[in-house]
Amino acid sequence: MHKGGNMSKKVTNKSRRNFMKTGLTGIAGLSMLPVVSRANHEKTPESKPKKAPSILRTLGKTGLRLPIVSMGVMNADNPKLVEAALDAGITHLDTAHGYQRGRNEEMIGKVIKNRPRDSYVLGTKIYENRNRKTGLFPKDAKSDTFIEKFETSLKRLGVEQVDILYIHSIAQKEALLFEPYLTAMQKLKAQGKTRFIGVSTHVNEPDIINAATDSQQYDVVLTAYNFRQPHRLEIKKAIARAAKAGLGVVAMKTQAGVYWDQERQQPINMRAALKWVLNDTNVHTTIPGFTTFDQMNLDISVMRDIALTEEEKNDLRLGQKISSSGLYCPQCRKCTSQCPHHLEIPTMMRSYMYAYGYKNLEQARETLISTGTRRLPCQDCSSCSVHCTMGFDIQKRMLDIHRIKDIPEEFLV
Ligand code: SF4
Ligand code: SF4
Repeated sequence: MHKGGNMSKKVTNKSRRNFMKTGLTGIAGLSMLPVVSRANHEKTPESKPKKAPSILRTLGKTGLRLPIVSMGVMNADNPKLVEAALDAGITHLDTAHGYQRGRNEEMIGKVIKNRPRDSYVLGTKIYENRNRKTGLFPKDAKSDTFIEKFETSLKRLGVEQVDILYIHSIAQKEALLFEPYLTAMQKLKAQGKTRFIGVSTHVNEPDIINAATDSQQYDVVLTAYNFRQPHRLEIKKAIARAAKAGLGVVAMKTQAGVYWDQERQQPINMRAALKWVLNDTNVHTTIPGFTTFDQMNLDISVMRDIALTEEEKNDLRLGQKISSSGLYCPQCRKCTSQCPHHLEIPTMMRSYMYAYGYKNLEQARETLISTGTRRLPCQDCSSCSVHCTMGFDIQKRMLDIHRIKDIPEEFLV
């Protein structure tokens, strides 16, 4: 897979490299190649980590006993990495119907093909289009497409049943209870095609988690949660309430944007960031999106030890001393009303983080295109009227990330 040498690969790598190199962030050279790249396919683990006793927690009323570190497979496209993670004691793989246009689920399907079904736990997510401004599904939406997508996911994964089926990326309470999709999920659960149903959210998380708890319809919530979120205390409270009510709680975006600075010179201490999340015992497992064997080993080490050292605590405070705003956008949405064009800035900033933090240009492009913004009016603004909570230079980042839509999709794979 992705072994090099031919002309199209040369073009592919050049295009990807050019995007990153010519970014306004001043990224330097080949050492910054995107992680989902050929370099990773050529890596093999020098030595497989030994299976170690890991801390297990119960995923709420599902009763599933999971290691506190799972794998968010979204940014990975190396089957050897997924195999190594399973061999090292990770049991829960999180993917989505849309990741890498289905190749993510297909890759997982190949990896798990010859493994006993009870040796791993699978979660996947279905995203359905919604009104970009309101976050609500169209009133006349039917469950057919939702069910078709899920059936396709089962085929790609090569299983008859997943463990958790999520409705993906919910930002409004009303969307959480949207009858056609909720009924479809309950039907799939009754048919035994999924054991449990859940909701994922990275916008307006406290409201969504509380609504999921109050609805008594869901088994699991998957939420963004990290030490850099301005509203992390509200999320913490909502998580505590959800866990008390028996919901399983899975945390994502634990890496908080990967870097403190937009020049990507000062990486966040990933082990410390993951430990911070797991010190909240109402979080049952996490899905860090590691893409290299080194990152995997680092995350797996947290599975056995979540005590924050003094040095790690200091590392988590580093941001207070750095004037730069980093890459993580907590999706507070305070920017959208400030822009006269009501641009979907939070989603574009998520795309920016995927490109420059996770180095997943394909996901960055898909996220950007989902905003439906063809022509960016930012170039016509003499100055940007948006004051971002995190201090991002919005105009600069918008103009930068918008270029990715012009790179042909096949060059980013
Ligand atoms: S104001 Fe800044 S941090 Fe908040 S959603 Fe907009 S871009 Fe993200
Ligand atoms: S520069 Fe872009 S984001 Fe800022 S106000 Fe103008 S159109 Fe909106």
